[in-house]
Amino acid sequence: MPVTQPSEQRTASGECRQCRTFCDRMVEPRGCLELRCRYLYSYFDPLSGARYMGCMRKVFRAEIDVSHFEAAERSGGYGGIKMTGDPLPQCQYRVEPAYEGGGPQHECVNPGFFDADSAFDLRDAIA
Ligand code: SF4
Repeated sequence: MPVTQPSEQRTASGECRQCRTFCDRMVEPRGCLELRCRYLYSYFDPLSGARYMGCMRKVFRAEIDVSHFEAAERSGGYGGIKMTGDPLPQCQYRVEPAYEGGGPQHECVNPGFFDADSAFDLRDAIA
């Protein structure tokens, strides 16, 4: 029976490490709001006085401080948050490469990682 670290299980759908480019899927919380996704929740934490939002399906596991999110959106955009679970068809995300490089060590051997209607490869935008 293969032994897997819990952190590997959590991030399996959100990252690919099969070549040296190291790609991550980043969910766009702005898309969750724009879609009014039924799995997006928010709550007010009386201890901290902050409001947080998150995904009930744990497509992204982290909870986002709404005031920080809104401030970031006003100044250029919050951006993405690392995907930790399998995306649903409505989830908007992009793939970000961590390391650019040439040669066979950076050639994609897992093109299916980019396959999704809502995904785009950041390398397309900067090429
Ligand atoms: S299911 Fe997808 S779109 Fe809905 S809240 Fe989660 S990440 Fe956002």
